[in-house]
Amino acid sequence: MTGIPKDFRNISQAVGADALLIQGAGGNSSIKIDANLMWVKASGKWLQHAGDDDVFVAVDQAMINQNIADGITDPVAGASLPVGPVGLRPSIETTLHSLMQHRVVFHTHSINTIVHAVQKNAADILTPKLAGLRWGFVPYSQPGLPLTRLVADILASQPCDVLVIQNHGLVVGGDSAEQALALMNDVESRLKTEAAAMKQPTVKALLEASSGTESVVAESDIVHQLALHPSGFDQACAGSLYPDHVVFLGSGIAGVQSADELAAWCRVLSDDPLRPKAIALKGAGVLHSKSLSAGGLEMLKALAEVSRRAPASSDIRYLSDKEEKELVNWDAEKYRQTLSALNPQQLIP
Ligand SMILES: [Zn+2]
Repeated sequence: MTGIPKDFRNISQAVGADALLIQGAGGNSSIKIDANLMWVKASGKWLQHAGDDDVFVAVDQAMINQNIADGITDPVAGASLPVGPVGLRPSIETTLHSLMQHRVVFHTHSINTIVHAVQKNAADILTPKLAGLRWGFVPYSQPGLPLTRLVADILASQPCDVLVIQNHGLVVGGDSAEQALALMNDVESRLKTEAAAMKQPTVKALLEASSGTESVVAESDIVHQLALHPSGFDQACAGSLYPDHVVFLGSGIAGVQSADELAAWCRVLSDDPLRPKAIALKGAGVLHSKSLSAGGLEMLKALAEVSRRAPASSDIRYLSDKEEKELVNWDAEKYRQTLSALNPQQLIP
């Protein structure tokens, strides 16, 4: 961790530990030390461990940006610098950080931002709320090179301290960790949404349906909220809202109205990566796959937090079938999933 300022690591850890900002290995932070050296979170690592674990890797940000300008297919390849921990890859979202001019950049999957960014008229809703900030709206694109190109075009046309990425999240930059955090807190307060009050699940039917199957009743009361608020249930079961959900949980979540339907669903075995790994029984609660990773559980809680906050009148833009398939066939994501499986002890929140 030599050479990484302590205030940056501590603030990164605090941001990473806030489940309304970052869930599991999603989200990342970076700091530029000089014209070349940038520390950025490693793929598969959890930002909440930034204070006491080697979660950052060093890359040559000037080389990455030159590679992007030159149209290189993988602009981060070959840009790792021989300092810091070995054997880790820079985050798959490293280019978001190198392209921002700021010394410190945070990229979060902020629940409050996502509630706005999944709506079809997201840019119109955000415009009055973010008035006075230098911000840009980035239409959805697959994380990696397609998103990199969009962000590069937007940043070339206008200076931005804040980016809202449709169906994805938030990027903020500042000259210091404190300044970037203050800007993020400002955006969070402007986009703050009220969560519906927590309700209690009814687990009897869930226990009966899952008995002897590969499904299990969710332990977290937050997860059960997916079944307990009518409009949130409808929204969560209608499709996928953002990339990390698809990677960890398949396409959306399944939703049923009766115990019989629930029992039938639990009896199906499938290795289709897009088959939902969780199912909600309307008005009762949620079951999920027994083999769900720690990261998957965090994603399930995140969806419940979004569904508690999205207005019932929201006109939501779901990821298309094509966009979902792009995500589960994505080599960089397969690497992140493999790393998660190899290092389960690092996945405990
Ligand atoms: Zn992201």
